[in-house]
Amino acid sequence: MLVEVVGLGPSGAAFLRAYGGGRGVERSRRYFKACGEAVPVETPMVELKYVVDKVRRYVFYSWRRAVGEVSYRAPRWYIVDKQRWVESMRVGGADAEEPAEVRVKAGGPYMSVGERITVARAYVEGVKLDDETAYFVFPPDAAGFYWVFPHGGVYNVGGGFVGVENPVPYVYAFVEKWLGGGRVVDVRGAPLTVVPRVVLHDGEAFRVGEAAGLVYPLTGEGIRPGILSALALAEALKTKRPLEAYRRGVEKIAGQVEFQKRLLRTAQRLLARGELLIELADDSVLRDYIEENLSAKTLFLALSKRPAHAVKLVAALIR
Ligand SMILES: Cc1cc2nc3c(=O)[nH]c(=O)nc-3n(C[C@H](O)[C@H](O)[C@H](O)COP(=O)(O)OP(=O)(O)OC[C@H]3O[C@@H](n4cnc5c(N)ncnc54)[C@H](O)[C@@H]3O)c2cc1C
Repeated sequence: MLVEVVGLGPSGAAFLRAYGGGRGVERSRRYFKACGEAVPVETPMVELKYVVDKVRRYVFYSWRRAVGEVSYRAPRWYIVDKQRWVESMRVGGADAEEPAEVRVKAGGPYMSVGERITVARAYVEGVKLDDETAYFVFPPDAAGFYWVFPHGGVYNVGGGFVGVENPVPYVYAFVEKWLGGGRVVDVRGAPLTVVPRVVLHDGEAFRVGEAAGLVYPLTGEGIRPGILSALALAEALKTKRPLEAYRRGVEKIAGQVEFQKRLLRTAQRLLARGELLIELADDSVLRDYIEENLSAKTLFLALSKRPAHAVKLVAALIR
């Protein structure tokens, strides 16, 4: 069965590899996309030769005030050279002219359904922070965050905020004010689907990765869900009812997307009242945030220990 995949980012390239062939259509010979380049260590298809740094400690700030920390004995994330890694996966593929029997859309945010924002990232030199540590910084006045990830001797620094069309000046200001300076050597922005609608098949094609809406609204993480959805679709296409099998294969990711969408809306309502969602989180919630495992249960348990916070959250949930 000839399969055609449009878009060869991590999701489309991983799909062709896992399916074992097909036709890949890509508009750009190089993969140039702004990204934090962080993936959980268990992400399939990540080869160690593309890993440029590791992270085992996460520090959370409400602007300048540290509000929580999560650390692990062993690295929990790899930081990859995403461009080289993705391009290395874009191999093979049929040149066949005949019409494809199955079509797969893997064009990322350029094909997704839902609300998008622009997120910017810069590489910054001349800064020294703790090794193997990722920093998340939540500003007091916008729903979103800045990040600072180690990147093999430089730092990958970025940010994206709901309602902010061009975050580039914000990232420059963050480098000056929060990092205390540093040389910005490369800045670029890219769209990110922050309020995605999960669409696994749109009537004409299957969808994988961010094109399918499988990207986490609160963390912006899309690489691992993209690869997992590609593997799930490759398996599902071998079955009699591919769409049902695919839906089952990505059920957990889709559930996490929906939950994080609700939390993002809650964060926006809290912000309108001058509160930050991050201030309500304790270390167990932050751990689940890192492990893409946020659930109503963890939030409830954390808040039950702090009733004043629970009241604020419930007020925001019911508006
Ligand atoms: C600044 C920023 C930082 C991020 N940081 C992280 C992070 O640290 N970790 C993480 O997991 N996620 C992160 N994300 C999200 C992540 O980049 C994406 O969710 C992920 O790359 C999705 O993979 P994908 O293959 O589905 O889509 P993409 O990576 O967007 O790839 C889509 C591909 O399709 C091609 N394409 C699009 N339209 C067409 C067309 N019509 N015809 C042909 N080709 C087409 C594009 O050229 C591209 O190669 C970040 C996003 C941004 C913007």
